[in-house]
Amino acid sequence: MRYSKVLIPTLREEPAEAEVVSHKLMLRAGMIRKLAAGVYNYLPLGLRVIRKVEQIIREEMDRSGALEVLMPWVQPAELWEESGRWEDYGKELLRFQDRHERWFCLGPTHEEVITDIVRKDVRSYRQLPLNLYQIQTKFRDEIRPRFGLMRGREFGMKDAYSFDADEQGAEESYRVMFDTYCRIFARCGLKFRAVEAETGPIGGSFSHEFMVLAETGEDIVVSCDSCDYAANLEKAEIERSKTPNKEKAKPKPLELVSTPGMKTVEEVCGFLKVKPQSLVKTLIYQGDSGPIAALVRGDHEINETKLRRLVGCERLELASEEVIEQVSGAPLGFAGPVGLKMRLIADQGIEDMVNFVTGANKADAHLVNVNLGRDFQVEELSDVRVAREGDPCPRCEGKLLFNRGIEVGHVFKLGTKYSKALKATYLDEQGTERLIIMGCYGIGVGRTAAAAIEQHHDDKGIIFPPALAPFQVLILPVNVKEERLSGVAENIHHSLEERGIEVLLDDRDERPGVKFKDADLIGIPLRVTLGNRFIKEGVIELKWRWSEEIDLVREEDMVDEVLKRLKSIKEGGDDEHS
Ligand SMILES: [Zn+2]
Repeated sequence: MRYSKVLIPTLREEPAEAEVVSHKLMLRAGMIRKLAAGVYNYLPLGLRVIRKVEQIIREEMDRSGALEVLMPWVQPAELWEESGRWEDYGKELLRFQDRHERWFCLGPTHEEVITDIVRKDVRSYRQLPLNLYQIQTKFRDEIRPRFGLMRGREFGMKDAYSFDADEQGAEESYRVMFDTYCRIFARCGLKFRAVEAETGPIGGSFSHEFMVLAETGEDIVVSCDSCDYAANLEKAEIERSKTPNKEKAKPKPLELVSTPGMKTVEEVCGFLKVKPQSLVKTLIYQGDSGPIAALVRGDHEINETKLRRLVGCERLELASEEVIEQVSGAPLGFAGPVGLKMRLIADQGIEDMVNFVTGANKADAHLVNVNLGRDFQVEELSDVRVAREGDPCPRCEGKLLFNRGIEVGHVFKLGTKYSKALKATYLDEQGTERLIIMGCYGIGVGRTAAAAIEQHHDDKGIIFPPALAPFQVLILPVNVKEERLSGVAENIHHSLEERGIEVLLDDRDERPGVKFKDADLIGIPLRVTLGNRFIKEGVIELKWRWSEEIDLVREEDMVDEVLKRLKSIKEGGDDEHS
């Protein structure tokens, strides 16, 4: 393809609207353009990358035995009312009426529609298992869309739904999708990690997120330095100390001290000259059935998901200042466990602490030399805090490491949530009606492309993994007015295209500097440069985008050399790009 005939509107300047690398580079490389907040046009280069991601997904999904379908974007309200999500989904669901004043929404996800398909046309155990997928546009009316394709309102997604007769089958379907996802992201040329994730109120133990590792990622990937344990920050478990503090100091007498106006951990620690590790924070939450106090060491943070699961609440939020004052008898910042009359939950980390500081449930006062057991009891001592780097691994003797990542896929065992709500049943071998067990599996298509750029770029531009690159080869004659250069460039272009290689010929009459800058920006893996050395010595320069090394190849060997290199990349022979 000729550069002059493709719309690749590259930008020299950093676009002010973009905050993250992938968004900046996609705009600068002329891949995407914003139409409205969180809604993008895909220009030719961008669309080629999107199609690459989709094709890899499609091939691997087909290979797993899943069947491709296509469901409408527009969905009737009735289905969402049946599942209860017309109310529950909130403002992210974009609702509208047709001319007959019937309500519809733009699909943010398709559990309702797919379950409707299956309940109508699947009757017997003989039709199970079934895995249906689609690659479709979704719309979620995010309050603050940002980061380009990373968090748009309209976005491309592959969503798959599995239907099984029993738990064992559902677990097998889950495992197959897990393996399929590993193949998909590996084929995309991405460094990724599958991490354990929260299952939310649906419960069950089956949920993994697939994270592309990138320093610029928004999420934290927690992994063990010795075993293969990995989880997201919300889920990451902390092992209860295997070596309890045997040489505990002797408990000292409890003491009330004046701490005028000292509310935060920093203020109290500074005033009393103690470390945060010697203080216990008391956080008061409002749960479904009344207030709950959660205790955690001064330098630790409560993990609200863990706490919510432990106390069995649907909703749990920090109590208002009024409620805190009412239940503790003191203003915000002075609550403590001694004498507090409510459910007390403590993080296991306070088990080893002796003579610590807490609030006194009294304005401007704290207690020192507080001891668990002697001065107060707790209902539960468990893991309710946020993991930190260096914490002990819950599976082995190792330590937890933190890396940054971008969530690109999620596999989830749904169970019977939707089959129950929408009455999707089948008849088993005995003719008994049973609920179908479901799983759902998503991959963000545009997000995967964006994550690839977050992982593969330098200060000059994108360094596409070859599997996702819009073209494999860029031919760059430095001066198209020089007939020898443009003639040979045309020949190589023609020969490679004939062999099915995606090749872009920069036939623009531009200064070499402009062409080299654009070449680095759009990140095509292999660059063939025809310049002065060709005129003087008859050699053509060949260079990978991710390497500084330039090889000199003669005109007659060029096509074979390019083919050989692309083949080696495909077979993983050259892994420098990863
Ligand atoms: Zn481990």
